[in-house]
Amino acid sequence: MSKILLLGSHHGDELLGDKLIRYIKAHHPELIKHVEFKIANLKAHSKNVRYIESDVNQSYNGKKDIYEERRAGKILEYIKESSFDLVLDLHTTSCDQPPSLIMASINPDNKRFIDASTIRHLVIMEPKTVSTALNGVCPNSVAVEINRHIADVTLENLCGDIQRYIDGKKAYVDKYIYEVDLLKNDEVTVSQFEKLRNFEYSDPGFYPILVGESSYQKQGYDYLGFKATERKKYKV
Ligand SMILES: [Zn+2]
Repeated sequence: MSKILLLGSHHGDELLGDKLIRYIKAHHPELIKHVEFKIANLKAHSKNVRYIESDVNQSYNGKKDIYEERRAGKILEYIKESSFDLVLDLHTTSCDQPPSLIMASINPDNKRFIDASTIRHLVIMEPKTVSTALNGVCPNSVAVEINRHIADVTLENLCGDIQRYIDGKKAYVDKYIYEVDLLKNDEVTVSQFEKLRNFEYSDPGFYPILVGESSYQKQGYDYLGFKATERKKYKV
C-alpha cells in the first residue's frame, strides 16, 4: 500500500497542507489510510510567519545550530523511519501563476507522482538553490507550489493526483519541463519586469517562474525569481 507524507508549512504562513488535509477528510476519506499529515515548521506555523531563524530551503544542510535546521534533521529522520513512498512538500506563493511541481530532478522515486499529476509545469531547480532544500536531499519528494488563493478545484485536482498515484495511473495532459536558474535583478529593466507573465515566454528571452509583484522589494535578495531559457515537452 502506498504511503504518502503530506508535509505542510515548511514556510509557516503557507497553509496548503492544512487545507488539503481538511479537504481530504471532508470529501475524500478513501485517501486517509494512504496519507500522513505533518506540519514541517511548527513554530513558524503557530506564529503565522514564514520562518523563525532561517528559510527552510536553506536549512537541509546537515547542521543543527538553529531551529529550522533542527526541524529539517527531525523531518528527514522521520521520513527515513516511516519509509514513505512519496513526500509532497506543500507550498503556496503570492506570485500569480498556475500550479507547478518543483524538484531537483525527475527520477525513478518521484516520476510516478509527476506522471499521475494534472499539474502541467515541472520546474527543475538548479543544484545550487536546491541542495539545502528538502527536494535536494530527499529524491522521493516533490514540492507543490500553488497560488495562495487556494480554490476548491485545486484541492480536488490534488486529490485526483494522489488517487492516480496510488492506483499507478497517469494523467495525460501536456506537461513541460523548465530547467531554471535565478533571475537576477539586473537582468531586466523595470518596464520588461512589468510585462513578465510566469510560464509565458517573454521579450528578454526566457520563461519567468515565481516572479511576483513583491519581487523587487524583497529584502535581502538580489534576484527576482527564476527563469528558464527553454521548455521541453514532458513525455508521460
Ligand atoms: Zn513555500
